[in-house]
Amino acid sequence: MADTYNYKADLAFLDDKRAPMTETLRAWCAINSGSANLAGLKAMREALGGAFSELGAEVETVPSRPHRIVTQEGETVEQPVGDMLRLVKRPQAPVRVLLAGHMDTVFGADHPFQGEKFLDDDTLNAPGAADMKGGLLVMLNALLAIEHSSLADRIGYEVLINADEEIGSIGSAHMLTEAAKRAQFACVYEPALADGTLAGARKGSGNFAAVIRGKSAHAGREHHLGRNALAAAADFISGIDKLSGKREGLTVNVARVDGGGPNNVVPDLAVVRFNVRLEQPQDSDWLLEQAQALIADIDRRDGYSASLEGGFTRPPKPMTPQLKAFFLSLRAAGEELGLNIDWVPTGGCCDGNNIAAAGIPVIDTLGVRGANIHSAQEFCKLDSLVERAKLSTLLLLKIAAGEIPNPGEFINTEKR
Ligand SMILES: [Zn+2]
Repeated sequence: MADTYNYKADLAFLDDKRAPMTETLRAWCAINSGSANLAGLKAMREALGGAFSELGAEVETVPSRPHRIVTQEGETVEQPVGDMLRLVKRPQAPVRVLLAGHMDTVFGADHPFQGEKFLDDDTLNAPGAADMKGGLLVMLNALLAIEHSSLADRIGYEVLINADEEIGSIGSAHMLTEAAKRAQFACVYEPALADGTLAGARKGSGNFAAVIRGKSAHAGREHHLGRNALAAAADFISGIDKLSGKREGLTVNVARVDGGGPNNVVPDLAVVRFNVRLEQPQDSDWLLEQAQALIADIDRRDGYSASLEGGFTRPPKPMTPQLKAFFLSLRAAGEELGLNIDWVPTGGCCDGNNIAAAGIPVIDTLGVRGANIHSAQEFCKLDSLVERAKLSTLLLLKIAAGEIPNPGEFINTEKR
């Protein structure tokens, strides 16, 4: 089959899709789907549900779990997040792939970046154009091309599109883990760099809030009775900041401090928020020990209390031999399309981290080429809509045909 199969006919399905994909992308980007905008996420889910139903499978809505967040007042509360969208096609097929993406963006309903602008014929500047509404279109069109192929029966897939990726996927990570267990390998549609370079190894990430409470007092009359939470927070910040670089590749970013008030009052509350990135899974325990020691140092002071909220949500995603083999397969598929597929390690992280931690190989930048994501300068290269849809189509069809090895089975033979 491998020698004779004519992929050209299957890929030709995508030849004239640039214009309709561009129009759909513009329509999707016009829907604000910031992670906290539940109404916008519902509208986005409905638009996606309609489009993905073309695959001929039932599109389900799956509830997410609420996030636990620490408010500016230092209280831990539950924050609801948007529901996920899921569809399953041919779960008994010999090749089983998880395709994942997210519908949320970092741009809330009140963010100034809402409109679109064509920077040139090939470049659309719009919220979510690259990250990752363009990627969702790439995924959908690759799957539509596969449905039109005579190899379709050999490949089954589960599509999972969550709505809380940009805030850490805390409410959907369990679904990604479960779906990963049903699949042999995964494709995620985060954007590649503008020149087409993909992300290889990724750092892990955790988000934390240190809640430090002291005692309020009048700054003039009773300063000695006060316990200054901001001053204690300064000690904590200085200590946690120094951990950057103490383990290779580990960084701590103190991002925000809440607390304090009028000049004549000793502040009784400080909330210190920080992000940690790391390369080695075992460093997460080390970091937690260090952070808890700094917290305990403040907690034991007279009149103070301190606690640490949050945790690691994205395990590091190392470049394993299995993953490298998957990338080499993708490179081989790319060559047939005239694409030079390359990859670099990154400090960024995404749902690919969680899927990899569940034990299957995953390439997570199969979406459009684009850049400046998470800023008002975000853009998508429109030529890459068809280009990257063809890349995924060819990759998956070649795996279905047995022409390139199933990335999941590579893992199994390694373990045996
Ligand atoms: Zn993204």
